[in-house]
Amino acid sequence: ESTELAARCARLIRDVADFPLAGVGFKDINPLLADAPTFADVVEHLAALARAAGGVDLVAGIEARGFILGAPVATALGVGFLPIRKEGKLPGPTVSASYDLEYGSATVELQPGNLPAGARVLLVDDVLATGGTAAAAATLLRTTGAVVAGLAFLLEITSLGGRARLDGLPVDVILTVP
Ligand code: AMP
Repeated sequence: ESTELAARCARLIRDVADFPLAGVGFKDINPLLADAPTFADVVEHLAALARAAGGVDLVAGIEARGFILGAPVATALGVGFLPIRKEGKLPGPTVSASYDLEYGSATVELQPGNLPAGARVLLVDDVLATGGTAAAAATLLRTTGAVVAGLAFLLEITSLGGRARLDGLPVDVILTVP
């Protein structure tokens, strides 16, 4: 069943060479989002994985496609949603974590006022690539007193080794590409 979903997702994710920079093989998930049954099945599948792992108190989504996937997963689970954003987008108080990119660095932020101490959080994003973004988001959640119950992605690009940067946290993905 999940192999059928993975195959359907694979057909609806478009590979775009050299976007947004030369050398990047961009995974465009927008055709999948535009396909109502597949979008719904992806959301339900990610929610089912979280239920099977014992449930969560909150879903956190990473800007921007983690919002598109994470918010409906939260409502499917009957829990709230916490946006993790790029630097400077959230009104304070905020906490932040910086991480290295191939060129330069980036910072993610959240509002700890909306994150109850000890909350079990599912972290959602569209693509697990190098893992830098997700690792920074997980660190941010933990330094704020939350428990990262797991991470869920639509797609993992295995050759980039992101999973190894996630400290052995439970990671669920719907499909993998090399
Ligand atoms: P990373 O920190 O390298 O794991 O990158 C993860 C973030 O960048 C996610 O929020 C993705 O949306 C985005 N991303 C990285 N690589 C790609 C890619 N090849 N195609 C689409 N999105 C990507």
